[in-house]
Amino acid sequence: MSPRVRAPLLLVLVLLVSSPGPAHAEEDPVGVWPLRPEPEVVARFDPPATPYGAGHRGVDLAGTAGQRVHAALPGTVRFAGRLAGRGVVVVSHGDTRTTYEPVEVSVEVGEDVARGAPIGSLELVGSHCFPRACLHWGWLRGETYLDPLRLVGRGPVRLLPLWREVPVRAPGPWAPSSVRLGLSRL
Ligand SMILES: [Zn+2]
Repeated sequence: MSPRVRAPLLLVLVLLVSSPGPAHAEEDPVGVWPLRPEPEVVARFDPPATPYGAGHRGVDLAGTAGQRVHAALPGTVRFAGRLAGRGVVVVSHGDTRTTYEPVEVSVEVGEDVARGAPIGSLELVGSHCFPRACLHWGWLRGETYLDPLRLVGRGPVRLLPLWREVPVRAPGPWAPSSVRLGLSRL
């Protein structure tokens, strides 16, 4: 991307981040990476078109077996145990929840956790990247899967026309990729 194109895009991003008003309440919560240091994203979010459709209902973060896993947001542990042979932790945050797997859990259901609190350690069994270890990190509102990278400012960014005073939600977070732009590509 040429510098001439990049400058207006950055301006739009700055306006989005700094714009006050009604749109502010809909901004994503600010979370932390579940792995430290900041992990490599080895598989991106690819939401299914239908509830049982193919896709990737989260992102995969490269890690090492035994590495500590942290809660991305403050919340309450809703599930901590084994599902289909792999350890899973689910933390609720108001109307959304984050999921972490495969994890050897170190928390209990009902426990309140702070942002960044340890919730377990990364397992190899059940890895989406087997034989490599990686953390599958999910984010849901109800039954709708969201891109967890939004919690760390790496999700799709809506590009809005500069002449609008109030950002509009359309075309929504799952607009065609032509109108989405990952921050990492800047
Ligand atoms: Zn995965």
